[in-house]
Amino acid sequence: MPDKHADKFKDECGVFGIFGHPEAANMTYLGLYALQHRGQESAGIAASDGEQVRVSRAMGYVADTFDSATLAHLTGQVAIGHVRYSTSGESHLSNAQPILIDCAHGQIAICHNGNLVNALELRDELVRQGSIFQSSSDTEVILHLYARSKAGSVESAVIESVSQVRGAFSLVMLTRDRMIAVRDPHGFRPLALGRLGEATVVCSETCAMDLIGATYLRDVEPGEVLVVSAEGMRSIKPFPPAPLAHCIFEHVYFARPDSYVFGKSVNEVRTDLGRILAREQPVAADVVVPVPDSGVCAAMGYAEESGVPLRMGLIRNHYVGRTFIQPQSAIRHFGVKVKLNPVKSILDGRRVILVDDSIVRGTTSRKIVKMVRAAGAKEVHVRISCPPTISPCFYGVDTPQRSELIAATHTIAEITTYLEADSVAYLSLEGLMSAVGNERGSYCSSCYTGRYPVEFPRDEVSYLQLALKLDKTVPVTK
Ligand code: SF4
Repeated sequence: MPDKHADKFKDECGVFGIFGHPEAANMTYLGLYALQHRGQESAGIAASDGEQVRVSRAMGYVADTFDSATLAHLTGQVAIGHVRYSTSGESHLSNAQPILIDCAHGQIAICHNGNLVNALELRDELVRQGSIFQSSSDTEVILHLYARSKAGSVESAVIESVSQVRGAFSLVMLTRDRMIAVRDPHGFRPLALGRLGEATVVCSETCAMDLIGATYLRDVEPGEVLVVSAEGMRSIKPFPPAPLAHCIFEHVYFARPDSYVFGKSVNEVRTDLGRILAREQPVAADVVVPVPDSGVCAAMGYAEESGVPLRMGLIRNHYVGRTFIQPQSAIRHFGVKVKLNPVKSILDGRRVILVDDSIVRGTTSRKIVKMVRAAGAKEVHVRISCPPTISPCFYGVDTPQRSELIAATHTIAEITTYLEADSVAYLSLEGLMSAVGNERGSYCSSCYTGRYPVEFPRDEVSYLQLALKLDKTVPVTK
């Protein structure tokens, strides 16, 4: 199961859809496999053979969730899939996606990446009017709105329902005979469009297209509804124009470096973050050491720009992630040690620049600094390739409360003391924005600024993220 205590922001979902392929479910399985980093709690696929939509969902990793018999049952030339992450503590299959319903408009399955900021008020109203919810997922609100729509066509009912929700949503839906992709007008979460022969593919990140041999065409545009059917592909723009708010954390951490996100290479952006960080925050040292894997691209950029050699002074065990048997006798910092091991020959007697992409609570960074020192490092200088993280996210990313974010409650000097580092320095917001080419102000950076591009009803703040934390009491943070 996923590491619930990892000291990182967590993305919550990856979505995939394919229309017009004889092995649609198999392609979706592979697409989800490539998107596994976006969610490890549950996985699901829905497929239609033109007559009936079938769905299979289960808790766990994609490779463990589906076998050939399950995939063979998901017949048809159109399929959608979802991987989900949650840290709410309880893992519920009822919250896994795709969610499939049957209503007056026929069967529809939905996959969602993002978070709806007005889901609670809509849900309350729907419940008052008699709706019965099956899950604590915000996504189900869209389906209830869809089912109640009196619109004369599937497209019109989809548009009517998504026009009532606010926040972050990259959606892929499946009916008996079509696939519909929707991206919110702010474009918070990515959604790429591509082709595989005659088939149309949509997915959260282009790395999913690479695996199946599909070609990236363009992004589904913010505010665009794409309807793909036997008649071809139709683009509808039903939303009023809204300011763009691409999640900058996709480039900092979430997305795979081999993906293109918001039209930019994640690897290039991340390496640039390191280069700019080296210019902004230089320090005399002998080696640049990345915290693997998240700090690798930025560390390469930092080393290149500073001329300080890059060395892999920490080795990651890639095979951790499933349950493992812990020893009876306590091993100090076992959680970090089982994942990372220092290379003494690189660190011993050296002044080390330790590069990572972010610090959330600081607990893991502190253990890593200790580990590097214990391996003999003379000095440890922590360099972070984004600004201090001071605010939670309300747009589909699992974040701790503000009070748990170390940079929200501590000065840099206090963080340096806490981490027991010789120095700690972050990339500036201007540096981050210049790396993504944010000339038009098209990125969300609320977790660094506390300024939110889409307002949320005040009482919803207490829920942080409805999709994940409906069953938890979370203190109001704003
Ligand atoms: S608040 Fe941060 S994590 Fe959330 S959408 Fe904005 S940039 Fe991304």
